[in-house]
Amino acid sequence: MHQQAQSALGLLGVQTPLAGLAIGGLWSPGQGELLTAHSPIDGEPSVELAAASSSQVGDAIAAAKAAFGSWRVAPAPVRGEFVRRFGERLREHKEALATLVTWEAGKIYQESLGEVQEMIDICDFAVGLSRQLYGKSIASERPGHRLTEQWLPLGPIGVISAFNFPVAVWAWNAAIAWVCGDPVVWKPSEKTPLTAIACQTLVAQTLAGLPAVPPGVSCLTFGGVEVGQKLAASPDLPLISATGSVRMGRAVAQTVAARLGRSLLELGGNNGMIVAPSADLELAVRSITFSAVGTCGQRCTTLRRLFVHESIADQLRDRLLEVYGRLPIGDPSDEKNLIGPLIDEKSGRAMAAALAAAKAQGGTIHGGERIAEGVPAGGVYVRPALVEIDADAEILQQETFAPILYLLRYQDLETAIALHNDVPQGLSSAILTSDVREAELFCSAAGSDCGIVNVNIGTSGAEIGGAFGGEKETGGGRESGSDSWKQYMRRATNTVNYSDQLPLAQGIRFDV
Ligand code: NAD
Repeated sequence: MHQQAQSALGLLGVQTPLAGLAIGGLWSPGQGELLTAHSPIDGEPSVELAAASSSQVGDAIAAAKAAFGSWRVAPAPVRGEFVRRFGERLREHKEALATLVTWEAGKIYQESLGEVQEMIDICDFAVGLSRQLYGKSIASERPGHRLTEQWLPLGPIGVISAFNFPVAVWAWNAAIAWVCGDPVVWKPSEKTPLTAIACQTLVAQTLAGLPAVPPGVSCLTFGGVEVGQKLAASPDLPLISATGSVRMGRAVAQTVAARLGRSLLELGGNNGMIVAPSADLELAVRSITFSAVGTCGQRCTTLRRLFVHESIADQLRDRLLEVYGRLPIGDPSDEKNLIGPLIDEKSGRAMAAALAAAKAQGGTIHGGERIAEGVPAGGVYVRPALVEIDADAEILQQETFAPILYLLRYQDLETAIALHNDVPQGLSSAILTSDVREAELFCSAAGSDCGIVNVNIGTSGAEIGGAFGGEKETGGGRESGSDSWKQYMRRATNTVNYSDQLPLAQGIRFDV
């Protein structure tokens, strides 16, 4: 393992030998299959770890279920204090955790710092929320009756997360679930075990200072698809929050639906932006570049389809090609680079295949080649691709998790919006315009059909205060801010009769 990652683990207080299974601070080595994670920086094996066996996953779920017994009745602000202290640990260890994120997910250090900051932000949000889990007071039609709605803890939550946001997505779920009174059982991506172990270590340290909190509020079950499926199938986990590909979401959703459980799905995106003639071109170049090439095109919100008005298309294309040509690509831990590697060889092959398909479908390709010079050997480094293509190309329908931006020209806005919406996914979208009518149309019911609709910013880089998620094949889930917390609770409608009469609703007479 790289020296920097090694010392980050030390700074975080991670114990060795590394174990992939934990119930609070109680660690056990997995008894399942041996999995090897590689750092995308150089492709070298970074850690070999045994997955949790099926019975170990069962033990973790049982521990979470037991913890739920006392956690659900702890006052919500007391639960918030646990989250507040965890957030403090994150603040103290921000740099070390970000170093590990860069090591395991390959994103540049600045973006890794941003990812850990998102964890801190969601903890702050959740702490405030712990005093604001408001219900409603409703007018009763009956005299001497009080009708209210209250929100109560749901139960242990299963969290399945993807490699590209190895820590923030878990934190979005965990911080909110904890204040809502729910323990969390986490299965991280098999590609990013070290960051997961580091997070669980910080939880364990927080738990050590709060002996009243049951350790089962946070369980880690490292492993692959089988561990994910075991969580999805468990009737003891009333909610499964799953982030990843549409393929994964389909499998998880069907398993959860078969037991009539709830799922919160955060799946693939195929995000588009419209650039209108009145757009500020300087702002356009910057926002397009960050959205399209940031995290080497491996964000669910990465910009993949760009609809540019024909009057400015050549000019914008030339500006983008100029910027693309000088993007610093290389080791993501070197702060001079803006683009790190793809996660692995399979991803590199998927990018090459998508570009070949785009070419066969009439596309003109700029960039997209593999880079071997000036980058760490063994990693998959690519130059981001810009592809000029027609709207009917089939390749536009799929998410390729790599930095490929398809550029299309449009004449009228209504057609551009229709084409923008004409994909199976519905996560993030944007319009760049100085015309308020165009902006409002894009945000209206006749506009973008996505869960995230932006004006004069790119498609990626959401704030935690809003609800995050998308429509159609993206899965329909909402995480993070706004009222997403309601998914982690159950709603009870309470009718209290404080009179000595028994009037029935709807005026029904039933005299006995
Ligand atoms: P992936 O689907 O390969 O894996 C995601 C997680 O699901 C992993 O932990 C994996 O082990 C698990 N998994 C896979 N198949 C499973 C199954 N059949 N049953 C249970 N668990 C299963 O995705 P990835 O390559 O890690 O991540 C990239 C994908 O995630 C992209 O499609 C991206 O758009 C999406 N993503 C979406 C969001 C969002 O918020 N919408 C955020 C991040 C990533």
